[in-house]
Amino acid sequence: AMDLTARRQGEEALLRAVEDSQIANRAKTEFLANMSHELRTPLNAIIGFSQLLDMETENPLNESQSENIAEINKAGRHLLNLVGQVLEINRIDSGELKCVPQKVSLSAIIDDAVTSMSDLAKAKCVSFDNLIDKNSDIFVSADPDKIQQIFLNLLDNAVKYNKKGGKVTLSLVEGGPEKVCVAIRDTGDGIPEDNYEKIFDPLYRLESHVKNCIDGVGVGLTVVKKFMAIMRGQVSVESKLGSGTCFTLEFEKWVD
Ligand code: ADP
Repeated sequence: AMDLTARRQGEEALLRAVEDSQIANRAKTEFLANMSHELRTPLNAIIGFSQLLDMETENPLNESQSENIAEINKAGRHLLNLVGQVLEINRIDSGELKCVPQKVSLSAIIDDAVTSMSDLAKAKCVSFDNLIDKNSDIFVSADPDKIQQIFLNLLDNAVKYNKKGGKVTLSLVEGGPEKVCVAIRDTGDGIPEDNYEKIFDPLYRLESHVKNCIDGVGVGLTVVKKFMAIMRGQVSVESKLGSGTCFTLEFEKWVD
């Protein structure tokens, strides 16, 4: 009889713990959703008004003012994008965000992402070597907006954590008949093997990068992993300390 009572008590405690964690999770989701909304409104004002200032024709800005406004605008858009990504992580965790896979031209998206990152790369003296022909017919089953964000995040990292004069190479790699695999290789410092999993955790950053004050918050790779998962794909990492890192994305091939 004692055993039975103890077991029942154990089960009840477990149920209560599950319930508590569900309540805490809902509170977290709600908090992040509200927070993001509260952040977006002023950010949109910063972005919008900085644009207005730059378009001013009666009292046009001088060159240096115009440059400063462009920086404000860029920083505002960067923050807005980050807030958006945190919200997306949240919506995936709460089960609200699902993916309706469609036919996506991978080569076109990659070409776009490389083009839009080229200024940033130039500023850091890093060059892109995209070995994937933009006109090749590589179609995957995925969500185009999500894929775009995935490549932007990975290319941003590959540039940011690269060395001066470094290179970022994009190529297709063998992945079996129903898969399409893309490798993004950089020539940066690399990632220690015992951090291969942790770098995908929200807010996790390598100590060396925090110490060296390299900008970042640690949500980029979390988004990559979660987006890949809802598209039934995968991301993996392999690195050699001192010589570079390679992220591999595995997508489902589109079948007509
Ligand atoms: P963020 O770049 O904003 O810090 P991420 O989630 O994109 O956040 O990446 C998490 C951490 O993983 C980074 O802070 C960095 O320490 C490490 N990292 C990511 N990409 C690379 C890379 N290509 N080379 C070396 N380290 C990387």
